[in-house]
Amino acid sequence: MAAKKTINQGVEWNYSPALESTSHVKLKSKYDLYIDGKWVKPQSKKYFKTINPANEDVLAEVAHANEKDVDLAVKAARKAYRNVWSKMAPSERAKYIYRIARLMQERARELAVIESLDAGKVIRESRDVDVPLACNHFFYYAGWADKLEYAFPNRKVEALGVAGQIIPWNFPLLMAAWKIAPALAAGNTVVLKPAETTPLTALKLAEIIHDAGLPSGVVNIVTGYGDTGASIVNHPDVDKIAFTGSTGVGKIIQKAIAGTHKKSTLELGGKSANIIMDDAPIDQAVEGIVNGIFFNQGHVCCAGSRLFVQEGVAEKVIEKLKHRMDSLIVGDPLDKNTDIGAINSKDQLDIINGYVKIGNAEGAEMYQPKCKLPKSGFYCPPTLFMDVAQSSRLVQEEIFGPVLTIQTFRTVDEVLQKANNTPFGLAAGIWTDKGSRIFNLTTKLRAGVIWANTYNKFDPTSPFGGYKESGFGREGGLQGLGAYLKMN
Ligand code: NAP
Ligand code: MG
Repeated sequence: MAAKKTINQGVEWNYSPALESTSHVKLKSKYDLYIDGKWVKPQSKKYFKTINPANEDVLAEVAHANEKDVDLAVKAARKAYRNVWSKMAPSERAKYIYRIARLMQERARELAVIESLDAGKVIRESRDVDVPLACNHFFYYAGWADKLEYAFPNRKVEALGVAGQIIPWNFPLLMAAWKIAPALAAGNTVVLKPAETTPLTALKLAEIIHDAGLPSGVVNIVTGYGDTGASIVNHPDVDKIAFTGSTGVGKIIQKAIAGTHKKSTLELGGKSANIIMDDAPIDQAVEGIVNGIFFNQGHVCCAGSRLFVQEGVAEKVIEKLKHRMDSLIVGDPLDKNTDIGAINSKDQLDIINGYVKIGNAEGAEMYQPKCKLPKSGFYCPPTLFMDVAQSSRLVQEEIFGPVLTIQTFRTVDEVLQKANNTPFGLAAGIWTDKGSRIFNLTTKLRAGVIWANTYNKFDPTSPFGGYKESGFGREGGLQGLGAYLKMN
């Protein structure tokens, strides 16, 4: 395999490939549904393929659950809730959740490699971010399971019952952890559907849950397409829908459950502003910009996809940013040198390329470093668009890829107006030397999460979620636990 190129002060360097091994990974060629503690053939009799987007190889076939399969899963979850999980001492429930976390840690390497194979994300990120954070969510919520009355003092708390959970493809294992861990800690049982392009780590998690000895039916994993998700949403015996995904599907779900007893949390799309003030530490800010938009190929709901730079430092920031982009390595996700891996699917690559076309047609100035992309698989180089209007579709719509728009501003009022002028309100970043500026901006930006002098930092203890069309409800922290409880 060819070594990759990077540029440092005009000199080209080649890195030797540093490929993560896949020999320790055990994947079945065909996966059934995990229902009631067993692997069950789908009533639909249908399977679909999940591929590696880095080279288009088929990784496995996965069951496509239909309405009847979802009904079996919900029935199993209801039975487990009624007969076992709701009757178990909370301290016993906590032990199971701890055990899941420990088993995930033991199999961390395998989980990281499978995540990179199935999703196209770089191994450094799955190994150092996705998998450890996913384990930490189970550890964190295990700690709360027997302390619910301390978590919510003077409230009488009760589990909701059966939680239907639907997750996207950008952080497959992490999103499964964000959903399953608090639901179990609060005493609920679960039916979870992973995204169609990235079902494998959720199925591995089912194996881990099985090995942890979790009572049958407490967690059920049903794979499938959007119609499988819709069957969960529309099932009359589901008490809560926890959805992470696009704003479009979020709206469909909200309509579908309107007027029912179902509770819901919706974690939807974003178009977050990353704001660089003229007194910011420029080198750190440039790293923050790169991390904000190119982490996970830009497939990040809270990606800092709209950059706002104060006029006095704009030229310097853009020059340093371009230089930094020249050194980013795009390529094989399993290579530890790679910074930007594969785009998750052909469909997503087409969407991103569509936006690149729009930017060029609108006359925005584009910058892409010269990098050779692998011949097979789905790849997109890191991309900047300068001179974009606030009304441009590139500025207003979620692209969900490694594409950054850059706008400049003069005053705080101007940047606040521009930053808030979007249907979304998920996250924001501020870079400045002055604490007073941070407090001023954070109180006026309409975003659920705001980072100051850093970006994309996550921790199980801190709640995450949006305003406006980015959804409602919080995941993580006590708020994330409360979302799975009735409180009287
Ligand atoms: P998506 O198309 O909305 O899909 C999300 C999940 O919903 C998938 O499992 C999908 O199944 C399923 N689904 C599709 N149609 C459905 C329907 N009618 N009823 C029920 N479920 C249905 O989103 P995506 O493209 O996978 O993910 C990207 C989006 O997620 C972005 O907008 C991103 O911002 C958002 N996101 C938000 C957060 C947050 O915390 N706010 C975190 C991560 C991602 P299929 O896979 O089979 O289509
Ligand atoms: Mg895949």
